[in-house]
Amino acid sequence: MDSQTVLLVFIAVGLDGLAGLAGGALSERWLRRHLPALVAFAAGTLLAAVFLEVLPEAVEAIGDTAFQWALGSFVTLALLEWALGHHHPADTAAGQAHAHGHAHGHTHTHGAPTLPAALLASDALHNVGDGAAVAAAFLVSPNAGFATALAVIVHELPQEVGDYALLRAAGWSRARSLVALGGVQLTAMVGAAAVLLGTRHLPSLQGTVLAIAAGSFLYIGAVDLLPELRRGPDSRQRVGGFLCGLLLIAGLYFAERVLGVHG
Ligand SMILES: [Zn+2]
Repeated sequence: MDSQTVLLVFIAVGLDGLAGLAGGALSERWLRRHLPALVAFAAGTLLAAVFLEVLPEAVEAIGDTAFQWALGSFVTLALLEWALGHHHPADTAAGQAHAHGHAHGHTHTHGAPTLPAALLASDALHNVGDGAAVAAAFLVSPNAGFATALAVIVHELPQEVGDYALLRAAGWSRARSLVALGGVQLTAMVGAAAVLLGTRHLPSLQGTVLAIAAGSFLYIGAVDLLPELRRGPDSRQRVGGFLCGLLLIAGLYFAERVLGVHG
């Protein structure tokens, strides 16, 4: 592992940290108009990253075992979501757009209210996984790294916007919400550092981490985000966002395979 790889990993994870501030940085008007397209864009980016970069690299690293890890991670997420009633990024994003259409300070989330501590804890756990995926991807190739980093950052944007709305609805101040979300986002550093250090002792680690990331990206893209494309008005905007996400990762793929450009 060279120092350039380590630098790229930490730049990518740092940018992911900034995504934690999205809820406070983007104007409500902008969010109301563009959130559905952003969710669709994230779904397209995740799905293309899984099938063009993450899963193929995982298979190259650890063979067919990669599919078992990917299936295991997909099924684990499905069971966890059933068991915990875990908040959906898409649901909270939709809740955010909905809440913005009404007076401030009202919660419009469905089902049991999410406690801030539980929300932040599950966020932290998820971010450790995202950070590990980014590091593992940069270790196998720069292009896999860029594709994974993009997939992570764009799916975090609607997620963080939704979390921000939930914290504000729970009575947290703007500053407190943003500091908490930005801080929790940086737990991705822990996952990244663990993979960078652990892979020295366990070379198959990066392949396993990529396979697990493939299963979880597939779940988030196909189960949490993609159904949003069928919901509500402005379907052209959402389909456009979805296609842009696919094309972004496909462009990276072709730059590497066809033009021989190595990021
Ligand atoms: Zn994530």
